[in-house]
Amino acid sequence: MRKLNLILLGAPGAGKGTQAEIIAEKFAIPTISTGAMIREEIASGSELGETVKSYTNNGKLVPDSVVIDIIKNRLAKDDCVGGFILDGFPRTVPQAEALDEMGVEITDVLSIEVADESIMERMGGRRVCKKCGATFHVKYNPSPAGENCPCGEPLSIRADDDPEVVKSRLVIYHEQTEPLKDFYQSKGLLKIVYGQEKLEDTTALTLAAL
Ligand code: AMP
Repeated sequence: MRKLNLILLGAPGAGKGTQAEIIAEKFAIPTISTGAMIREEIASGSELGETVKSYTNNGKLVPDSVVIDIIKNRLAKDDCVGGFILDGFPRTVPQAEALDEMGVEITDVLSIEVADESIMERMGGRRVCKKCGATFHVKYNPSPAGENCPCGEPLSIRADDDPEVVKSRLVIYHEQTEPLKDFYQSKGLLKIVYGQEKLEDTTALTLAAL
């Protein structure tokens, strides 16, 4: 199997995390989710967690310098040598430029496209595991363990999945993250996948694009 240094683009709730888990298993590479790392920092009560909490809980982007530092440290770890998936990074053009400056070679960029209205509907049903980071949807991707994660932890609703917060996250996505499609299109790396109602249909399109 070829080496995959993949960036997943897509609005919050488009299904990046779920597809990332599936691709990670198939290619035996790690998923690096800046959102999950930030939530871990917040849960740990660290100084960094305290600094970023007000941004994240209100649906705002954490400053570029903070996430760039987080990703730089993470990509330096040994498990990234054979490939990786970036889920939720980069989210701004300066973040993408920082990746270039670090000398990180990206092989594929996949944008999962879902209409804003469908995202609003989907986010209401999203459930996450605070312990292992798995994500589910009450209707589209239910946990086999009902209201618990298969790891045993009760599932929870993310603070930033509140409808008003989701709306502002979508505005930020269109303004700050969507320009990355042109950025990677001009490098010949961009592939578009249209998110389908059924998870397995989106997965089939995703895997076919890689
Ligand atoms: P996510 O789980 O990817 O939706 O990320 C959750 C939250 O973490 C976002 O709403 C931001 O507050 C923060 N975050 C995650 N990744 C980034 C990033 N690359 N740049 C800025 N903020 C980020």
